[in-house]
Amino acid sequence: MKPARPNLRDFSPATLRARFKSEGISLFRADQVAQWLYARGEGDPARMTDLPAELRERLAREYEPRALRVRDSQRSVDGTIKAALLTHDERVIEAVLIPEEERTTLCVSTQVGCPLACSFCATGTLGLERNLGVAEIVEQVVRMGELLPGDRRITNIVFMGMGEPLLNLASVVEAVRTLLHPKGFAMAPRRVTVSTAGVVPRIADLLAQVPVNLAVSLHAATDALRDELVPINKKFPLAELFGALRAIPRLGRRHPIFFEYTLLAGVNDSSEDARRLVDLLRGTPAKVNLIPVNPHPGSPYRAPAPEVAERFMAVLANAGLTVTLRRSRGADIDAACGQLAARPAPRPAVSSALSG
Ligand code: SAH
Repeated sequence: MKPARPNLRDFSPATLRARFKSEGISLFRADQVAQWLYARGEGDPARMTDLPAELRERLAREYEPRALRVRDSQRSVDGTIKAALLTHDERVIEAVLIPEEERTTLCVSTQVGCPLACSFCATGTLGLERNLGVAEIVEQVVRMGELLPGDRRITNIVFMGMGEPLLNLASVVEAVRTLLHPKGFAMAPRRVTVSTAGVVPRIADLLAQVPVNLAVSLHAATDALRDELVPINKKFPLAELFGALRAIPRLGRRHPIFFEYTLLAGVNDSSEDARRLVDLLRGTPAKVNLIPVNPHPGSPYRAPAPEVAERFMAVLANAGLTVTLRRSRGADIDAACGQLAARPAPRPAVSSALSG
């Protein structure tokens, strides 16, 4: 369900210029509004105090002031912050901030729930409720930024929260344009990563429109196993997926594809599995991210013992692949990969004077 009126953040700075122009509002005003929206973090036109009163009142009549409110947020012992965000129609989505020494990564959602039903993912158990609008994606950056300590800012954004970004492509592309635009969040393209479980026909579409990093949730190196873990593989099997990946322009050592591989004990973590993965990735510039599975209630999967994960990693590294074994972040607050399911979080640890 869409709200009755749009939000100014439904439009990237370039689109806003075009929109204002067609409505007889000057480009100067469009840029001034963009500055409020992104540099100053103010989405409510009624509070854009240096606009002429008449324009301010008109925008306040025509646009929603806010797309998301922080319902509650939790802080992990490792510094990870997860927030449950409420949409105008009271749906709950989640976003996660991951502060590290050199950077602070925000993980954003693109759908309420997800239709893909990957076997080990908590979000997949929800099914799809609806796509998020552009402002609902972009405002995650604003609301989450407000939860950071004053000396920190968001440096990287990954589209790895709830939902499948390529099934909400138009909104994801417009949101990315706002992230990258100099009058938007002015982020470098290499700091933005869009992850897909493999909606193959839309991969080229995405990359033709925005120059982001691509991550692919692989998890298995044979169709038989991947059909089971990532059901969209039945529609777009590995041969089609890799056909599309190898056709990506600019692919190379400086622009590799990131592959996520969730390690599931006894399912996809043997040395044989690792060797199959090496064979599959041969010829594709790749960085592999191994993620020991994060369990969630009702899931039969367990993470492999550390030495099993290390051995898997060694097979890949010895074959010359760049591989990292991701240390799970925020698992104590269910903020880790595949744990986003918007369960009620009755004990807000960071109560939010900023929300409302
Ligand atoms: N739908 C997109 C975006 C979500 S990214 C995609 O699949 O790429 C979230 C990542 O976390 C995906 O790689 C997903 O497969 C992985 N993941 C899901 N559940 C997980 C779990 N329980 N433990 C570890 N990783 C998980």
